[in-house]
Amino acid sequence: MIPYNNLNGYLRKTYGARLNKICIDGGFTCPNRDGRCGIGGCIFCGERGAGDHIAEKIPIGTQVKTYIDRFPGDVQFIAYFQNFTNTYAPVETLRQRYDEALIDPRIKVLEIGTRPDCIDGAVAELLAEYDKKYDVWVELGLQTANDRTAEVINRGYSRDVFERAVDILLKHGVKIVVHLIVGLPGETFDDFRDTISYINRFPLFGVKIHSLYVMKGTKLERMFREGSFKPQNMEEYVDSVVYALLHIRPDLVVHRLKGDCPPDLLVAPDWNRSKDEVLGRISDKLRKAGLRQGDMYGRP
Ligand code: SF4
Repeated sequence: MIPYNNLNGYLRKTYGARLNKICIDGGFTCPNRDGRCGIGGCIFCGERGAGDHIAEKIPIGTQVKTYIDRFPGDVQFIAYFQNFTNTYAPVETLRQRYDEALIDPRIKVLEIGTRPDCIDGAVAELLAEYDKKYDVWVELGLQTANDRTAEVINRGYSRDVFERAVDILLKHGVKIVVHLIVGLPGETFDDFRDTISYINRFPLFGVKIHSLYVMKGTKLERMFREGSFKPQNMEEYVDSVVYALLHIRPDLVVHRLKGDCPPDLLVAPDWNRSKDEVLGRISDKLRKAGLRQGDMYGRP
């Protein structure tokens, strides 16, 4: 048995089966790229905004239908708005784009990746409306609780903005998944430990964790080539994730423990290609110690 509360386990318990994820490019942009709060974006962000697997400029309904048609029968789905900032538009535009995706009764979950500075009361009310019919998950890209690092990575908001967004979403009953990155420039293990202790303050639904990999064409690639950024090695990453799993709430749903970069865009580290090996090492380490998620929750 996997020694952590992984997403597939949650889905089987809740829906009786795994759900297939439809990754959707909703045609949004990002305030950290278009000048509203910054330009150039986060230093690790690729040209397609954290959704580099997706073909561009295809109508939302077509993206969904093309994917769903591959799975006739009893399969259920998650509609995942992945690229850029998927609450960055007027509420009526958001409603229209989400509706374009929700075209099949087998879609059970509406998952929306966004930034905390693009959550307000009106957006949360809209999401709460969808939550009456679907399971709505909002994924907030925090990456780190350290505001000094947030400046280095050009995140474009401070952590009090995250706290405000969490508060608004929780008041509207919307589930939150927090996104964290391990191995950010200048961060030590202590910084990551502080980030884990920080997220433990909030009644979140889930967490996604990945290592910082260098993608072609990003500012991080420049830093890597100049020698001002060195990626973690696999062992450091595994140790950090094991620490995180032991210290988060036992029931927090672990949505991901490893980010995938399209192979042709990956600059470094090479081990990022070995998803099965990384996940296997994380589980092995926990099993060998006879431990599982949450065993050290609330302890140093
Ligand atoms: S907030 Fe997301 S989409 Fe915007 S620049 Fe950062 S990683 Fe890219």
